[in-house]
Amino acid sequence: MTMQKQHTITGQHDAHLRNLLQQAKLRATRQRLGLAELIFSQGERHVTAEGLYAEALGAGLRISQTTVYNTLHQFTEAGLLREILADPRRIFFDTNVNPHHHFLDEDTGDMEDIPADGVSVADLPAPPPGKTIHGVDVIVRVRSSA
Ligand SMILES: [Zn+2]
Repeated sequence: MTMQKQHTITGQHDAHLRNLLQQAKLRATRQRLGLAELIFSQGERHVTAEGLYAEALGAGLRISQTTVYNTLHQFTEAGLLREILADPRRIFFDTNVNPHHHFLDEDTGDMEDIPADGVSVADLPAPPPGKTIHGVDVIVRVRSSA
């Protein structure tokens, strides 16, 4: 894991975060605002539920692990986050909801964006009858070269 700069909750939730929750039809509770601030005020990023919980505690947010988990899923359902299943034990929540791909560093567990046009996938199989291909997400797994 790379060291993340400690983020302090300012409590001065700007209109942007309130708007975001409003658009998502989620009530702007203090906990949701606090988590939204941690997630969305540090540029594009990929967070895990465990990582965000640790950040929330570090920022002095009084919150349970269950609330963090539920909030991440509410944000995902509302289209504010995209869920990426890196492996069965690790789910990332991505603030970039536009189509793109990822490098997954298997040494550090860090995830990095690859632009949508950075990968070309040729010869996709024909989709099952009655289905059209909606998207292709590629995870390129990397390790330190020996
Ligand atoms: Zn991403």
